[in-house]
Amino acid sequence: MKYALVTGGSRGIGRAVCVKLARMGYRILVNYVSNAAEAEKTLELVREAGQDGELLKFDVSSRQQTAEALAAWEAAHPDEYVEVLVNNAGIRRDNILALMPEEDWTRVLDITLNGFYNVTQPLLQPMMFHKFGRIVNMASVSGIKGLPGQTNYSAAKGGIIAATKALAQEVARKNVTVNAVAPGFIKTDMVEGLDEAALKKTIPANRFGTPEEVAELVGFLVSPGASYITGEVISINGGLYT
Ligand code: NAP
Repeated sequence: MKYALVTGGSRGIGRAVCVKLARMGYRILVNYVSNAAEAEKTLELVREAGQDGELLKFDVSSRQQTAEALAAWEAAHPDEYVEVLVNNAGIRRDNILALMPEEDWTRVLDITLNGFYNVTQPLLQPMMFHKFGRIVNMASVSGIKGLPGQTNYSAAKGGIIAATKALAQEVARKNVTVNAVAPGFIKTDMVEGLDEAALKKTIPANRFGTPEEVAELVGFLVSPGASYITGEVISINGGLYT
């Protein structure tokens, strides 16, 4: 049985990734932090896609919650390991830096950067031991270009891109690949409240992307066809920025 863990799998891009990986034959561990009803819905979609899965509730920014949840899963599955990890959980708390409360700075960095560490670190040893692993980190155009009003989010996503490149070099010999995906504007709860009509004029494709389009890219990076791709950041943004 092959297992994939998707953090923030209850909604948006994470949900679409869960369904895509289920179609590729993975059992899915759907992580979420608070939205149990949406997480259940994702699990139903995973089952409709022909695979089983489990819900794993923990806050990725909490070292303790994450360690406990992963240890409990490992204890219940002594002969299995998580071979695909998609670090997708994320939030945005936009404001210009001059007006940004410390809480909004720390929370965004905690979830993206400490979350990356908390989830990835314990799963690496088993991946290396089995000489196979696929890690995909959800970055953003904001982490490549930097976006005004998102200094916290840009810093977090820029950090995750650098971490992707560093870790890729540490584990490549063990047949573990580490890549990042950098979406532009994707239609999910995260972009609610943004002026879509105005923003899409800035996108050459003249529309926001869909979670399913991002999930296709994640699916490719996990597939055998991408076995020699590592340490890369792949943009998926309708031509917004390259
Ligand atoms: P979304 O619809 O707001 O969903 C966010 C997901 O992250 C939810 O499943 C949520 O769980 C989970 N989450 C939030 N905080 C968490 C925590 N502390 N621990 C565990 N899970 C947590 O967001 P999305 O648009 O799908 O975004 C997914 C990823 O893509 C994020 O990393 C985001 O930064 C990135 N991204 C999005 C866009 C875009 O335009 N949408 C563009 C570039 C990059 P609950 O349901 O339990 O709250």
